Order: sequence, then structure tokens, then C-alpha cells
Amino acid sequence: MKEFPRHARCVVIGGGVIGTSVAYHLAKLGWKDVVLLERKQLTCGTTWHAAGLVGQLRATQNLTRLARYSIDLYAALEAETGQATGFKQNGAITVASTAERFEELKRSAAMGRCFDVDVQVISPCEARDLWPMLETADLVGAIWMPKDGQINPVDVTQALARGARQRGARVIEGCRVTGIRASEGRVRGVATDRGEIAAEIVVNCGGMWAREIGLMAGVAVPLHAAEHFYIVTEPMPEAVSTLAVLRDYDGYAYLKEDAGKLLVGAFEPRAKPWGMDGIPGDFAFDELPEDWEHFQPVMEKVLARVPRLATAGIQKFFNGPESFTPDNRYYLGEAPELQGFFVAAGFNSIGIQSAGGAGLVLAQWIADGHPPMDLSDVDIRRVQPFQNDPGYLKARVTEALGLLYAMHWPYRQAETARGIRKSPLHERLVAANACMGETAGWERPNWYAPPGVAPEYRYSWGRQNWFEYRAAECQAARERVALFDQSSFAKFVVRGPGAEALLQRVSANDVSPRDRAVYTQWLNARGGIEADLTVTRWDDETFMVITGAMNGQRDRAWLERNRGAGCDIEEVTDGYAVIGVMGPRSRTLLARLTDADVANASFPFGESRKIRVAGVTLRATRISYVGELGWELLVESSRAVAVFDALCENGADLDLALAGMHAMDSLRLEKGYRHWGHDITDEDTPIEAGLAFACVLDKAGGFNGRDALLAQRASGVRKRLVQFALEDPDALIYHNEPIWRDGRRVGYLTSGSYGHTLGRSVGMGYVRDASPIDAAWVNAGCYEIEVAGERFAARASLAPLYDPQSLRMREARATPARTSEYPPRG
Ligand SMILES: Cc1cc2nc3c(=O)[nH]c(=O)nc-3n(C[C@H](O)[C@H](O)[C@H](O)COP(=O)(O)OP(=O)(O)OC[C@H]3O[C@@H](n4cnc5c(N)ncnc54)[C@H](O)[C@@H]3O)c2cc1C
Repeated sequence: MKEFPRHARCVVIGGGVIGTSVAYHLAKLGWKDVVLLERKQLTCGTTWHAAGLVGQLRATQNLTRLARYSIDLYAALEAETGQATGFKQNGAITVASTAERFEELKRSAAMGRCFDVDVQVISPCEARDLWPMLETADLVGAIWMPKDGQINPVDVTQALARGARQRGARVIEGCRVTGIRASEGRVRGVATDRGEIAAEIVVNCGGMWAREIGLMAGVAVPLHAAEHFYIVTEPMPEAVSTLAVLRDYDGYAYLKEDAGKLLVGAFEPRAKPWGMDGIPGDFAFDELPEDWEHFQPVMEKVLARVPRLATAGIQKFFNGPESFTPDNRYYLGEAPELQGFFVAAGFNSIGIQSAGGAGLVLAQWIADGHPPMDLSDVDIRRVQPFQNDPGYLKARVTEALGLLYAMHWPYRQAETARGIRKSPLHERLVAANACMGETAGWERPNWYAPPGVAPEYRYSWGRQNWFEYRAAECQAARERVALFDQSSFAKFVVRGPGAEALLQRVSANDVSPRDRAVYTQWLNARGGIEADLTVTRWDDETFMVITGAMNGQRDRAWLERNRGAGCDIEEVTDGYAVIGVMGPRSRTLLARLTDADVANASFPFGESRKIRVAGVTLRATRISYVGELGWELLVESSRAVAVFDALCENGADLDLALAGMHAMDSLRLEKGYRHWGHDITDEDTPIEAGLAFACVLDKAGGFNGRDALLAQRASGVRKRLVQFALEDPDALIYHNEPIWRDGRRVGYLTSGSYGHTLGRSVGMGYVRDASPIDAAWVNAGCYEIEVAGERFAARASLAPLYDPQSLRMREARATPARTSEYPPRG
């Protein structure tokens, strides 16, 4: 018997499908010194009982790429390793029994084709031809993905483990990790019940135990187990081995052939959390008790969809736990709290289909020190520390499981585990009839209902109930004055003699001028945009960094990793509220409440100054994310209500309105402002994103990523972010809609909304070509945007569609609000 290893380059914790895939891919990259530790036996956690569906279509292009890679890998694994996997590609059908569901399916089909997935929209009759037991009387339509597959989860895990071993990795079963060793912010190894192993890299692939393993390292991995059910029938002659997978989202169920029987799995709307007292240490190949009462509503709908099941006996009721995350997306990447400690966990019932791709990119991330593509959707750096609270997780998991099959409405908000973080203005905004949404745990006003109207969403693919209320908020910001609560911004003070050097090194813009809010990107060595934020120098050694609510953890981690000596980074998010006062009358309003000179000449665009407003000393910054004259007021939380009240009181005769996040999104899209995570990510450079104006390429001392930008400037770009306005004022876009140029698909929208000032839908997205792209190429094209399979003519523009020269924001000239190429609508 081989000796127990005392050191390894990489220790992978967990022998499920994820851990084995990570070990396999590391070994494939040539990492010989990889040790996988499994507490009991391979697959004994969640993997052994998975249904084995391997779909391709995910919510983003990169996640779809990863799922497709899984399929390609699984198709070849048996030949490579000699271990059978049971992989077959019978395809999958998803049916729609309402018009809204069919719209959702058609939209995702358009997106899927754009992501190179073969997705066909088919009729109910065609669906029945493919799946003869299907009841179609109430169906509206369906989609068919002929390349979707299924696999035996135990066998694929064994094949991955074998492939890893064949390439030199060690797989050790019956070895429990009991502690994580770390010093000076770096992981150093693991403690196990068989001794210590020193390691450069540790990967937490602990499935539903991953939260507890994270705690050993001081790393938040917020996930919670929920019970997950399926039944298996007695053998049925109709359950032929070539039968496709059937998904009926409205019936909360999926069906697949399983050794001549039918397996019926459920994604019921309200799930049952499990493991509240911790996951039992000896849990292995275990099942949870049957719960027919809970399964009954699913069963009723399945019987209506597949009446033949009424006469098929049930052989097995299966209940097993799986881990779910608060936003239904898995965690991948290096933990911001501890260098060298990676996580791949929280697979929300799609771990088998995700394992191949997730293992590949995590291995590349480990080997190269950075993710190989934009993985922000699943990046562990999106985690908010509060989310690790078991009470929060238990409440949210009841909703998370069902969301997989629920209607994926635009603007859909979480219903559970709300009210975690509140702005100091919260009570005031609720009293003003705000409809709150949630981002990073913050309750934020998305829109305001008029008096007497309940501030509740009525979701649809068309204009939702708040459409006209948002129009009024946008109009207030464009023509009068609107107040936005932007307190959820993440805020950091960077302080010390080394602060300037650090921020100049990470920022592509020159952030050295005092009392100026400088809009800048932080770039990686490849020129990709890691962060998009403002830096304001308060004094010689103090800088304020303000970024989006979702990006606080990530941006802070980026700064920490680049930090040298002589500076501290302090998060002050909760200490300050931010009140946006936006619109042509904002100056009049502010002037009523301050002695400071807020005239254009003395308080120009970009300036940030301490002034007194309504008797409260605060920092006012002349900046705007909506493209109007305006100030963001950074005010200590304890004084925020007083300032807010004074603004409302003094703004009444100026027709001041409160405006929400949906209005802000619409306004910023008209103005062409980018949003990190959607329009710009770590795989897009400022040149591609049209943000080169914010990069000072000749800055003394340079900055991270500058060389990559210089090289790209010389070679030209092959993708370019472009803004679009749809000619048809009734077509609505959200994001991911394909972009067509001269009859050829050239990209998809990264953001989309309705622009009320322009009177039509506006969006932006990258257009791509094999040859370098310039403005002439962009302008020469004839564009269409595809919405649910239908193509709509669109105007493309590299300049903002609204106020392209920023005259209103910078000079506050008395220009009419509708400064655009489009005439106002109706
Ligand atoms: C009923 C059901 C049906 C499903 N169907 C599908 C499907 O059709 N398609 C799909 O894609 N997904 C499906 N899933 C989801 C899929 O099974 C999971 O996402 C996947 O198995 C998760 O794999 P994992 O490796 O992360 O976790 P696990 O398989 O649980 O592996 C984690 C491993 O870590 C080990 N471990 C924990 N703590 C330690 C420690 N301290 N030291 C050492 N080892 C440790 C455990 O023993 C365990 O083996 C289904 C899940 C369920 C419950």
C-alpha cells in the first residue's frame, strides 16, 4: 500500500462528480502532484443518486459553453478511460402549456441558437411524435434540443477518477479532512483523520458539506441542502432506451427513461430544507424518508401530462439531499478570504451536467492564476458574508429549488429571506410606496407606485404593471429633478502613504487629482475589466472607492491582492448613505439648501467637495449615472434622513419625484453607460467596450493591463460594444437577444430595457467579426435584434443614443430633455 502523502501541490476535498472532475482536469493539464481526499467512498454524497440529465442550455453564453463541453467530454470519456459511463444523446423536449411559458421558451431558443446550441421550436404534435406518451391537448408549443444527453452519474464519476489516476493523480478514499491550515492569508494544507498534508492549493468540492469545510478556512460558502425527489416506475414497454428527456416546467417535473422504466423528478415550488443541524458526518449512500404528501401536487400534474403513468406501478420513491445557493448559481473560484483556497460547490441540481465544464475552467484558473473566461455569474467573489447565516439560507432554499422550473420572468424578485440590509432611508421610501427589490441583500426601491396602488409586481413578458410609473420617474429625472437612493453602493476608504501608488497602479485612469471623482476601470494583465468604479481622492493619503452593491467583495479582493505596503483598506458601506439628486432642476434644489456655490463654473462636472446641505456636512459629487445634471450626496448614515427630508420638502414646488432602480437602468441605457457583470467583464477590454477615453495610456508609471491595451490598440479589436435602439416601439428586450448584422448573427445583447425618453427599447451588446472592427464597419451594417424568434430592425450607434455629447450633464445648458436622434414618441 502506498504511503499516505505528506505534501501535494493540490489537495482536492470531495470525491463526488465535481471533485473528480477538478482532479481529472488538473491532471490533464500536467499537474501530477494532485491528491483527492474522500471522507468515505467516491460518489457517496449527492452524486450517486442523481438522475443524470445532461442539458446544454444555461442562462449565459459561457455557462452554456461549459455545459456543452461536459457533453463533449462525457461522449469521449469511455474511449479514453475504459470506464463505461452510460452516456447517450437522446435529446430533450421542453413543453409549454401557457402562452407566457412558450414566450420564455422561444426567447431561450433564440438565445440558445446564438450560443451554438441546436434548439428547435416545435408544435405540440411534433412533440408528441418525439414523445408518444405525451398529452398535448393543453400545450401551446415546445422546444427540442436533439443534442441533450443523459449519463450514469456514478459511472461518469468513476471514469473521471480513473482518468485522473491514469495521469498521475492520487485518489484516497476513507480520509476525512478535519481542518484547513493557513498562514499569512494563504492556504498551507489540510489536516485529516490520517495526518496532515501540506499543499499550495486546496479545492473545496465538498458538496453539501462545502459550507462547513469553508468555515474551517474562514471562507463563506453559503449553501443549504434541500430534499430532492424522484420516483421510478415499474418497467414499461413505452420506456424505450432511445426515449428523449421530457421537461414540463409548468408541471414542475422532468421525465427520463431509466433501464426500461420512467424516472419522474420534481422541482416543486416550495422545497423542504434539510440538514439544519449540520450534515451528519456518517452520511453515505443514504436516502431520506418518502414524502408522498409533498410529492402529490407534482404527481397530479404529471398524471395529466402523461396519463399512461396512471396504470404504471411505482417501484421506488427516492428522496436525497442536494445543496442550493441563494441565487441558484454555483460557486467557482478562489475564495476572496484566503489565497490558494478554491471552491467548486453548490450545484443546485445541475452538478452532473456542469461537472465537466466547471472542472475544466477551475483547473485552468488554478494553473494560470486567473479564470479562462468571464465566470462572474458563478464566481465565489459574489458572495456576501451575511449569506452564510443558516437562518437566511434555510429560508431562501425553500424558494431556490423551485426557481429552476418557475417562470423566469424579467425583473423577477426573490420572495424569501428578504429585509436583510436596509438603507437609512428605508422607512421613508416604504412610506412613499416603493416597490422594493433585492440586490446583495439590500432592499432597494425598484419603482414607486402611485398613492392607492399596491407596490407589487405583476410579471409578464410585455409591459409590466409598473411600466408607466417608471416612465414618470424617468421623465422627472430628464425634465425636472428626481431623487435616487443609491446607498447600497459598496464603499471603501483606502488610506496611508502607499494608497496613491496602489490606486494608480490598479486604475487605468489617473486618480491622483484631489477632490475629483474619477471614473476608472481596474484591469487584469490581459486588459480585461476586473472592476468599474469611481475613485475620489479626499486628501494626500485618503481615497474613497465607490462601486456597485454586488461588486464590493470582488473589488475589495482585487485591491487586497494588489496591495503593497503602507495602506489600509476599510469597508465603510454601511457608514454612508448616497442620495442621487438628478435632473435639470437639481442645481436649484441644492442651492436652496446650501451656502456652497454650486454654479457650473465653480462646481464643474466630476468635482467632489465637502459642503453643508440642510445643516449637515456631507460630500457632494457632481456625477451622474443617468446622464443629467446632478449630484451624488455621500452622507453619514445617521444624518441621511434629515438631508432626504429637506430635499423632499424643498423640492416639492420643483415637482421632485422619487425614482427607483428600474428608472436608473433605463436612463443609463439611453445614455450608453455600461454595467459591470453584464456589459463589461474581465474578458472585455476598455477598447472593446468603448471606454478607452477613461484610460490614460501615458500615465507616469503605467498601470496594470496597459501593455495589453497598447498591443490591442495596434492590432485592432474583433468585438466592439454597440448601442441599439429598436425601430418598433412595442418590442421589449431584456438581455441575451441575438444581434443580426446584414442577415448574419454577430452577437447578443448584454443589457436591454425600455428607454422612455427615446420611446423605444434600447440595449447594448458586442458585435464580433473575424477581422478587426472599426467604426466604419459598425456603421456600415444593417442591424436587427431577434426577440423570441422574430427579428426587429434596430439602429446601431457607437455614441450614446441620448445626449451623445453629454451637454446636459457637463454644461447643464438649457437644452430640451429629448436630445437624441429620435423624435419624442406620441
Ligand atoms: C434527486 C437528485 C437528482 C439529481 N439529478 C441531476 C441531474 O439529472 N443532472 C444533474 O446535472 N444533476 C443532478 N443532480 C445534482 C447532482 O447530483 C449534484 O449537483 C452533484 O452530484 C454534486 O456533486 P458534488 O461533487 O458537488 O457533491 P457530492 O457528490 O456530494 O460530493 C461531495 C463529496 O465530498 C465528500 N466530503 C464531504 N466532506 C468531506 C471531508 N471533510 N473530507 C473529505 N471528503 C468530504 C463527501 O463524502 C462527498 O462524497 C441531482 C441531485 C439529486 C439529489
